[in-house]
Amino acid sequence: MNAFVTSDTAKPREARDLPLLRVVFVGHVDHGKSTLIGRLLHETGSLPDGKVASLTAVSQRRGLPFEWSFVLDALQTERDQGITLDTSQVRLRTASRDIVLIDAPGHAELLRNMVTGAAQADAALLLIDASEGMRDQTRRHVHLLHLLGVPQLAVVVNKMDRIGFDQSRFDAIKAEIASELSRLGSTALAILPIAARHGDGVARYTPAMAWHDGPTVLQVLDSFAPAKLPAALPLRLPVQAVYKFDDRRIVAGRIESGQVAVGDDVMLLPKGTRARVLTIEAWPASPEGRSPQTAVAGQSIGLTLDRQVVLERGDLIAAPDQRATPARRLRARVFWLHHEPLRLGETLNVRVGTAEVRGSVAVLDKVIDPGELAMGVPRELARNHIGEIEIELAHPIAADAHAQNPRTGRLVLDIAGRIAGGGLILSVDRGVDRVRGSGTDRNALFALAAQLNDSLGPLHPRERIEHFCREVAGKVVFTTSFGPEDQAILHILQNLSLDIDAVTLDTGRLFPETYALWAETERRYDRRIRAVYPQHENVEAFIERHGINGFYDAPAARQACCHARKVEPLSRALAGALGWIVGLRADQSDHRQETKLVSVDERGLLKFSPLFDWSRQALQAFVEDNAIPLNPLHEKGFVSIGCAPCTRAIVPGEPERAGRWWWEQDSQKECGLHHRNSPAAATMPARATSDSVKIEGSDAAGV
Ligand code: SF4
Repeated sequence: MNAFVTSDTAKPREARDLPLLRVVFVGHVDHGKSTLIGRLLHETGSLPDGKVASLTAVSQRRGLPFEWSFVLDALQTERDQGITLDTSQVRLRTASRDIVLIDAPGHAELLRNMVTGAAQADAALLLIDASEGMRDQTRRHVHLLHLLGVPQLAVVVNKMDRIGFDQSRFDAIKAEIASELSRLGSTALAILPIAARHGDGVARYTPAMAWHDGPTVLQVLDSFAPAKLPAALPLRLPVQAVYKFDDRRIVAGRIESGQVAVGDDVMLLPKGTRARVLTIEAWPASPEGRSPQTAVAGQSIGLTLDRQVVLERGDLIAAPDQRATPARRLRARVFWLHHEPLRLGETLNVRVGTAEVRGSVAVLDKVIDPGELAMGVPRELARNHIGEIEIELAHPIAADAHAQNPRTGRLVLDIAGRIAGGGLILSVDRGVDRVRGSGTDRNALFALAAQLNDSLGPLHPRERIEHFCREVAGKVVFTTSFGPEDQAILHILQNLSLDIDAVTLDTGRLFPETYALWAETERRYDRRIRAVYPQHENVEAFIERHGINGFYDAPAARQACCHARKVEPLSRALAGALGWIVGLRADQSDHRQETKLVSVDERGLLKFSPLFDWSRQALQAFVEDNAIPLNPLHEKGFVSIGCAPCTRAIVPGEPERAGRWWWEQDSQKECGLHHRNSPAAATMPARATSDSVKIEGSDAAGV
């Protein structure tokens, strides 16, 4: 069947907003698809008045019995004559749904449309001829629907009149289909017998099939769940352009899903910057000259934001609580159009929304020849074949899996500017998260650190922080102990509106001045700084064994205290992170001269010291210029400030760290945050060890 009918052909009906349901209709042309559709159009009152009567009269004049398939033939003729519109879809309306029945002349076209997202279906009707039962083609259809991931399926066993409405024969076919579906891990919402020619089972059952106690075809269509409307999905606004008008920067784009209102907080991806919507601009302006207060999916708008942020074409504005993922790697089911097969390792352009990025094919599998529904050549995707690929992207872009958001879950692949394929995004991977664990991945992490050192080195700390948070497409944690370096970094993070987890480790033994600065900092930047506390069992065990101040008694006891109050909590603070921002500076001491901008620590974290090359004077100037709050203890001779019982002021001439654990003689005093002797630590810069955690004026790791 290849039907072209639009709602224009239907009788005018009372306007009602019904949920739209897109149903793909799969079955052999001889199994009665046209008859069933003709009957459905009739039963739902979707045909123009008099259409059936006129077709019946024509049939009688020709000496032919009336067939419901004539309805589609007639409408097809009208389409050919330009009377109806060419939509390649059949529309009808049930009691509770507006239905679009999607069909295609062959597998290839159907797959192409569905795999590229041109015609996604919410559900499928699979038609089987009762007199033929399960055939190879039926199995192919079942596999096809499974491949397409159509979420809801009903099976219609037609032409029951040809087998005398035999229940036992139907039950056998039903069992066979159910078994085939089960083998694929799928089930049908319903498997129902019908005789479309007589209308039996379409809108009602006649006594001939009184034994069937399940739903009719129309009841099945009514029971399929419709897809969410784009406006009901989370906000997705791909940035098309940023325009400058007078003092304003207007971010323009089309809302693909969701809605936005003046005053809304939004997330700018893939950078992860937050901003608030100041105004919504629409063109043309309203006659009153008023700007709209809200906008919804489908509208092309401009936004002004409450802060200067770096935004460009390809970025995505999203709801902050339901954001898209900044993807480094995408898995997609694609339909390949290029005459040259796609192969592993090939590079090509990937377009998602308005974003374009180079990508290379890292995985290519599940290749299928849709014409034959047979497996294709492994690791090669030929023209008009379907396969699943994973693409490593050159830099992150914001994307959704198609199942989460069909509007932003599609991609287009191009080679030299010409479209070479397209498909649905199956999963979105932050990518760099993968760079942990195996030796190969660890090598990749070191390579990334080296690359970041090269690219970020020449930049100002502000740009370094912005680029680091953009390039490291994983969770980034900033640890602070409220030293001057930490305070400067926090100031930059706030000005960039970067949504970075800022954490402090509250050992329970900090100075009152430190707690006061913590509160003052939260007020100043209008944000919460997350506190991670020691496990009470660990602290209780330490005190039980060594006493409340047992750390004075022996280095081992001191290290045990630091482990319970700092090292273990730090592990939890960094759980799931890929990037760790700290306030190390190379000129803080001889030990830290080799501190790198980005290094790899034993946890598999990219440890990032954006101020590594700042002098004390440069830091001081930055802090003063920006009126950044500092710990008042610095005025009293305290330089490196940690726990109160373990920190004292120093006198001029003393080393900066002389005030920490002053009763210990070891010049390499450590609190155990960095495992200098571990194999991983051996690969780290010498300064990125526990010594380098303690920096002038602060504990750089925020402890
Ligand atoms: Fe315990 Fe002192 Fe270490 Fe703080 S610095 S955790 S009080 S030993």
